[in-house]
This record gives sequence, structure tokens and C-alpha cells, in this order.
Amino acid sequence: MAKILVVDDAEFLRVRISKMLSSEGHEIIEAENGVKAVETYKQARPDVVLMDITMPEMDGLTALREIRSYDSSAKVVMLTALGQESVVLEAIKAGARDFVVKPFEKERVLSAVAKLVG
Ligand SMILES: [Mg+2]
Repeated sequence: MAKILVVDDAEFLRVRISKMLSSEGHEIIEAENGVKAVETYKQARPDVVLMDITMPEMDGLTALREIRSYDSSAKVVMLTALGQESVVLEAIKAGARDFVVKPFEKERVLSAVAKLVG
């Protein structure tokens, strides 16, 4: 079981992903934008972060960079949509460990997390 921070500005997506993960026994924390993601990361020190890219306040790429500069061992998986390949490449360069493309399939989400906490 891992502590996982789910970051997305769309509440229904946070709820969906949180359900997938909590059904496997993981502890879930949520954040709705990049600013809150960085704050919550520092307070809660989750094992894995699932991070949306397009969000208000602060986007996922910026939040990834802030989290990685705070904790160089942070494990962040990007949640992406088709057409975001160049941002995904930037995210990988910035230290993202993996990415999952929308629509998020349960098996793919769970295996991305399992690879990082296993
Ligand atoms: Mg979004």
C-alpha cells in the first residue's frame, strides 16, 4: 500500500482515479491545481504523484519541476491527453517517471503505480 497524491483540476477524474487506487488499498490525497500539489507534496510526502498537465494556477509541468527541486527522488507520473507529446517529453526530461494517456484505464494506472512502489 502506498500514499498517492492525485492532481487534476477535473474533480470527476480525481474521483475516478482515486477509486481505482483505493480499491487496491492505496491511501489517496487529492489536489486540484499545481500550487496545491506542491504544498500538499511538502506536507504529506506521498510515495507517488499522479499529475495532470493542464490546470489553472500552476500547470503540471511547473509543479513537477517544483516538486523535483524540493525532493529529487519524487516519483511523478504525468496524466496526459493525446496531442501533449511535446509536454510529455519535457516532463520526462524534468524527471517524470512515466505517463498515462486519457482515458485512464484502471490496469494502466495501477501498473504505473506498481512499478514505482513495488
Ligand atoms: Mg486538466
